Amino acid sequence: FDLKNEDLKDLHELGQGNGGSVKKVEHVPTKTMMAKKIVLIDAKPSVRKQILRELQIMHDCHSKYIISFYGAFLADPNICICMEYMDKGSLDNIYKKIGPIDIDIVGQVAFAVLEGLTYLYDVHRIIHRDIKPSNMLCNSRGEIKICDFGVSGELINSIADTFVGTSTYMSPERIQGAQYTVKSDVWSLGISLIELALGRFPFSESTSDESDSDFEGTLSPARPGSISLSGLPPARMKRNTPKKDKRKSKGVSLQGGGMTMSILELLQHIVNEPAPRLTPEDRYPKEAELFIDSCLLKDPDSRKTPKDLLNDAWMDQARQSTVNLEDWASTF
Ligand code: ADP
Ligand code: MG
Repeated sequence: FDLKNEDLKDLHELGQGNGGSVKKVEHVPTKTMMAKKIVLIDAKPSVRKQILRELQIMHDCHSKYIISFYGAFLADPNICICMEYMDKGSLDNIYKKIGPIDIDIVGQVAFAVLEGLTYLYDVHRIIHRDIKPSNMLCNSRGEIKICDFGVSGELINSIADTFVGTSTYMSPERIQGAQYTVKSDVWSLGISLIELALGRFPFSESTSDESDSDFEGTLSPARPGSISLSGLPPARMKRNTPKKDKRKSKGVSLQGGGMTMSILELLQHIVNEPAPRLTPEDRYPKEAELFIDSCLLKDPDSRKTPKDLLNDAWMDQARQSTVNLEDWASTF
């Protein structure tokens, strides 16, 4: 492909995130459907070109657990990234539509994400850095793939300056300023899997339809100063305008008492309180509970890598499972 913006016909918007928006487009010359991510970047031309160069690594990422990349180009002041279109959308939208996801399906998701992360790290030394249900995509062939991984250091820098990001999936060690490792992705995977199985974000007690419940009411009182934020870039804490109401539907209200404080409270909670678990006990297979417990070990040294977790008992079960993702995907 030699992708040009004029060959792309906009169809409709697929969603919006921190960095910009994603549209379904048709590449007219080849009649290929694509997802076009438009990222607004406030950076010098030299930095934009550097980002484009770094994104080219994605051309070499070939795995059935990773979204295919068609190309990226500058469309001032934006950078456009064109990728494989996944017709069943992201897992956050799927559970919001159909409710909590069956644990056997969640096992297949865990397996696909671990395979994708292992591929990225073993072959390209890439750490994903943004594992969450909205970056896990599904299509009607029943394939599950991950997207939006951190290939471009310059892109990460340019975006990090302008917003808080998805700190809610952030591991305790990251909140405390430690370097990103593949184990931080494992923490984010653990949080995401509980979210899919419960049908709600795990740090909130409420169910997803009680979307107005106040975040503060579900956490222990804030203890100002009890965690050190010195490791976080100051700019990350600056933004105080909610990007949109998306988080509300997860049962977490980041409005009201000031978004910055609520995020701080969530970060404090992640650092100071025991990690969430797959509960109630006895509802889920023991192997699933134990797997998620090991993803959510607060000490990164004790936490396993994605590759090690592929040998976990629950992943053996997932490999042997007869569950049919294509049939499942045909139900919504
Ligand atoms: P976020 O991941 O934070 O939600 P994004 O801007 O990355 O924000 O994506 C916005 C939404 O667009 C996602 O939540 C997802 O539902 C949808 N989306 C992203 N990429 C694709 C894709 N390749 N195919 C189909 N839908 C996509
Ligand atoms: Mg995304």
